[in-house]
Amino acid sequence: MTVREIIKRFTFIEIFQGMALTLRKMFSHAVTIQYPKERRPIAPGFRGQHALAKDRSGHAKCVGCGLCVTICPSQCISVQRDKGQVVGYEIEVLRCIYCGFCVEACPYGAIVLTENYEYSVYKKEDLLLKKDRLLSSWDKYMPGKMGEDYFNKFWRPMSEDFGTPPGQSGYKGKKQ
Ligand code: SF4
Ligand code: SF4
Repeated sequence: MTVREIIKRFTFIEIFQGMALTLRKMFSHAVTIQYPKERRPIAPGFRGQHALAKDRSGHAKCVGCGLCVTICPSQCISVQRDKGQVVGYEIEVLRCIYCGFCVEACPYGAIVLTENYEYSVYKKEDLLLKKDRLLSSWDKYMPGKMGEDYFNKFWRPMSEDFGTPPGQSGYKGKKQ
């Protein structure tokens, strides 16, 4: 044991250092907030609870093509179709990793990740989101122009040019 360690041990200096730090923090500004009365702003593009989008006349946009089912890496989406109609749509939220691939893959802009993060429940069965709940989440969390803004801001390519970016190698093919 060094002299320095012996002094530390017998003078309780670390305890006094800790108490001094506590005292300093008691008079500084709190970094915590009074949730749920106070809330921090949500970051743009936040990926929260899913919703199924509706068109302007209030009908579900989903046509049941199943692209979201195919792309989902967690395999947590299932779609049921009958006679050309979407009769069921389910997302097992507990398995979702919020990658957003379903939103990107959907050719109809029919699924969104809303800003809602408050959906903790007591039973895991309640986190199997069914079609009706997903549709009502659209009304609840994407009111007015929010849905349109969402797709324009985050989920549409910002460029009209879908060609190969300059400098990136691309397959040119054989000249006929
Ligand atoms: S966000 Fe990703 S993991 Fe979640 S449902 Fe969509 S594709 Fe699947
Ligand atoms: S949400 Fe989109 S990708 Fe998924 S089944 Fe419906 S239309 Fe197809």
